[in-house]
Amino acid sequence: MLEQQQQQQQELAIGERALFDRLRSGPPGFRFRNWAGTFQSQPRWYLAPETEQDIVGIIHAARRTKLGVKAVGSGHSPSDIACTDSVMLNMDKMRRVLAHDAEACTLTVEAGIRLHDLHRELERRGMALSSVGRISDQSIGGAIATATHGTGIAFGDLSSAITGLVLVDGTGARRECSAQSNPDLFDAARCSLGALGIVTRVTVQCEPAFMLRAVQTPTTLDAVLDDLDGVVRSAEHVRIWWFPHTNSAVVWRASRTPADTPKQSPESLVRDRLYGFHIYQLQLYKARCAPDDIPRLAQEHFARRFDRRLEWVDDGYRVFNFDCLFPQYVNEWAVPLELAAPVLRQLRSWVDAQQQEKHGARVHFPVEVRFVRECSVWLSPAYKRTICHVGIIMYRPYHAPVPYKRYWRAFEDIMRAHQGRPHWAKAHTMTYRDLVDAYPRLSDFSGLREACDPDGIFVNDYIRRHITPPDPARGRPKL
Ligand SMILES: Cc1cc2nc3c(=O)[nH]c(=O)nc-3n(C[C@H](O)[C@H](O)[C@H](O)COP(=O)(O)OP(=O)(O)OC[C@H]3O[C@@H](n4cnc5c(N)ncnc54)[C@H](O)[C@@H]3O)c2cc1C
Repeated sequence: MLEQQQQQQQELAIGERALFDRLRSGPPGFRFRNWAGTFQSQPRWYLAPETEQDIVGIIHAARRTKLGVKAVGSGHSPSDIACTDSVMLNMDKMRRVLAHDAEACTLTVEAGIRLHDLHRELERRGMALSSVGRISDQSIGGAIATATHGTGIAFGDLSSAITGLVLVDGTGARRECSAQSNPDLFDAARCSLGALGIVTRVTVQCEPAFMLRAVQTPTTLDAVLDDLDGVVRSAEHVRIWWFPHTNSAVVWRASRTPADTPKQSPESLVRDRLYGFHIYQLQLYKARCAPDDIPRLAQEHFARRFDRRLEWVDDGYRVFNFDCLFPQYVNEWAVPLELAAPVLRQLRSWVDAQQQEKHGARVHFPVEVRFVRECSVWLSPAYKRTICHVGIIMYRPYHAPVPYKRYWRAFEDIMRAHQGRPHWAKAHTMTYRDLVDAYPRLSDFSGLREACDPDGIFVNDYIRRHITPPDPARGRPKL
């Protein structure tokens, strides 16, 4: 293996080697780990390009010497989607603002910019993203590569907010696309899983900066499911948490409020962090040896942090984001909106049945339910259907395993039976064959991928498993 590596390294021409040395990033032997520490890889080269020209040079060199290339944003995907043992591109130096169109309310930025920085740049120009997910640590390039979403029945995911982009494909060619120019590439590249090329710049559709008033109220799952349609439409942005092993739920509703509304904070962040991060984490850690305590902990967790009305007012992006506490196992799928209630009922029945079993599964965290408007992005879970995202989470201690796979399997079975589409950032067991049924444009995407990347330099294990047509010798991916 080492010999092979040295041989390939020697094959870099002098100019290519100089380019790689100039762009070297991170310490020698750098090991990439995703945010949750669930996947890792050791890239042979970890490079931080500064310009599009650098990326073109890297791709020509990689293609000639048969190296693979993967961009990485902030490494927040809870799967191996960004992993490579070949060339990893740290996009942190490509984070500049390139153009502002006040009339169209768009901003063009380099793809490495983190959402936190993007919010600040937008704020300075009186603009904001219309819908944001739980965190803003991601790069915009990484976020759109996996169709990252927030919630709101009238709001699309981040990929659908892109009005134009530029990528460098696997031949080193620079390709520009928008709804008017190269529309197929545009609809594919807005959620590309990093398989079509390195996205260097994107234009983001924004709206004038806004304040949100959010109100969080405790309720029951029964009440939510009895009128899910009403709940979903009861505010601009609605998120539901259901606490497994209980009938307790929380509905978070947020809508735009006049700019002069005084800002209001819901509670002591210090207390929340102290309980949420340290005490609750310790309780879950202890529950590894006493899993039957978990249903009681779920009830206590709800009572301590969620069983009261909370209200807050702030800039939109600050209200969308919240503290995701500590590393977790996560899985998330989307189903058509009209199937959301049956899916949640079935999931509850399964959890209840497990609770009756002596060694049945015990669930640590609330199930998160969000809504996204349909769009035309080929690989968005919201392609041509308005969807309900259902996310499941389990605690992940740093140094000890917890059993989560039975829960994952049951969840996936339920989602598959209800036309589910997995969230691309998360680890799932769908093969190309299943995905072709779930994502009607997957085979078109796959064809375009071959055209953009004839030598497969962007193909890593994840792309091979899920996006390239099947190798009969390969079985179902493992959780
Ligand atoms: C705590 C936490 C909270 C989260 N909350 C949400 C949420 O609310 N909603 C949601 O939908 N998701 C959520 N996610 C998932 C997250 O948004 C996605 O995993 C997102 O892709 C991460 O962005 P990143 O910059 O870290 O990308 P990475 O994980 O680094 O990369 C993801 C993919 O993008 C590719 N990529 C990155 N940059 C480029 C580029 N410039 N050109 C081409 N390809 C590129 C990579 O090669 C890889 O294939 C959350 C994840 C965590 C850990």
